[in-house]
Amino acid sequence: MAQRLIDLAIIGAGPAGLAAAIYAARSGIDALTFEGMQGSQLSTTDLVENYPGFAEGVGAPELLGAMRRQAVNQGAKFEMDEIESVDFAGGRKILRGMTDEYAARSVVIATGARARWLGIPGEEQYKRRGVSACATCDGAFFKGKEVAVIGGGDSALSEAIYLSRIASKVTVVHRRDRFRATEALQKRVAELENVALCMGETPAAFEGDGRALSSIALSGGGRLEVSGAFVAIGHEPVTGFLKGSVALDAGGYVKTDSRQMTDVPGVFAAGDCADPLYRQAIVAAGRGAAAAIEAYSFIQNQGDGK
Ligand code: NAP
Repeated sequence: MAQRLIDLAIIGAGPAGLAAAIYAARSGIDALTFEGMQGSQLSTTDLVENYPGFAEGVGAPELLGAMRRQAVNQGAKFEMDEIESVDFAGGRKILRGMTDEYAARSVVIATGARARWLGIPGEEQYKRRGVSACATCDGAFFKGKEVAVIGGGDSALSEAIYLSRIASKVTVVHRRDRFRATEALQKRVAELENVALCMGETPAAFEGDGRALSSIALSGGGRLEVSGAFVAIGHEPVTGFLKGSVALDAGGYVKTDSRQMTDVPGVFAAGDCADPLYRQAIVAAGRGAAAAIEAYSFIQNQGDGK
């Protein structure tokens, strides 16, 4: 396989990776940003109302698209290749993608996080047959139908609000009697006439005729008749391909210091793959910028970097 030496490899093209790409391009280093097939987690959101600079909010795809265009306008280069494994043991950091192999002086890991699933009977069987983790992707299939959203965080209530405009009824199923979502989202949900709450319940199984979901069996013994179920119970970092190469915490998040440095010199991480705490697009973008600034300093201080 060909091995071109680049100054900086940025793995991931969500808010963290794109901010890093903008800063790296402007600093004049030879950086390449890797985009995977899955797209950013942010692209599964509908409207982003808390990203500073957009008084009326901004559509998530528009925000990501603008960030990417801004990066391209600054000279950033992108490669569509999913990085499957890495070797950070030597001075040159090796990245093995699905289609090629790359060598870099420094790396910014910005792979984000992906949806967590319940792991209950019927979940695998009814994925793409009624069970989904993305209302903006699959909501349109449930026009005029009854659906459920599982979870009690910002994602769950955002999905419920989005789906309330499409489905005839949305039931939010949450395992506790209180939501962890922000007050603003809770207030908006409470104002929606076609959103019902099912508190203190957990789905026990997804059921149907084998071809389409028709109900959710609940832990308390009840049954919810729905044709769609949207699982919104949080996310896990996309770091499996890094195991053994950089230090991860018990939850699989990349460990960094306050300057986005991992335990491997020249390897930095930013965004949701390294942030179990805030998990906000604005925080990811800020840390992506910081990681690119640190990578630039590392490359400058490294001499020829071989
Ligand atoms: P989250 O805040 O971790 O919430 C996950 C929810 O799922 C919790 O309510 C949790 O219940 C529930 N849950 C977890 N495991 C479960 C299980 N096995 N069975 C049933 N329920 C389960 O995740 P999130 O809502 O995806 O949000 C992640 C981050 O993104 C947060 O920082 C959030 O603020 C941010 N976000 C922001 C927006 C926005 O518009 N600003 C939108 C989406 C996400 P408990 O409450 O009982 O733990």
